[in-house]
Amino acid sequence: MKVRAGFVSNSSSSSFVCDIFGREEAGYDGEYGISVATCDEGHAWCNEHSEDFEISLEQKRDIMLGDAQFVSDLIEEDLEPIKSLDKEVVEDSFDEYLSDYGEWPSSACPICNLRCISSDIILEYLEHGGSNIEQLEQEIRDKYSNLSEFRKAMKEKK
Ligand SMILES: [Zn+2]
Ligand SMILES: [Zn+2]
Repeated sequence: MKVRAGFVSNSSSSSFVCDIFGREEAGYDGEYGISVATCDEGHAWCNEHSEDFEISLEQKRDIMLGDAQFVSDLIEEDLEPIKSLDKEVVEDSFDEYLSDYGEWPSSACPICNLRCISSDIILEYLEHGGSNIEQLEQEIRDKYSNLSEFRKAMKEKK
């Protein structure tokens, strides 16, 4: 796994910002029990979220075959059933792939595909006129008289 933008890293201590939850998470790649998936656009997320994304068999195959390292670690015998979309082999290999490699092409990345929209994407959208941000701000002011009241109400809605 390559270390990319999005990682707060100085080789010894490791933490990274999970692009799915927007939270800083400690450790990566087994060292601290967290395995990190990345995409070729530099997104990074806790691998455990990867299971929540429905990806087709074809996408799984393409993700694995797109990873030169993974392919070179396999023997031809293992590679053939993946290429020919043997469901069981693709599923099993993909689970293994996620825990050991976790490198996704942007075409299948949940963030690049907008399957997972983080709060900065929502803010960016609002700021660029996707919706009326002043109106939204006013709505929040009208509903709540201060931040602690707002927080309290948000908690109750959860
Ligand atoms: Zn996470
Ligand atoms: Zn991505």
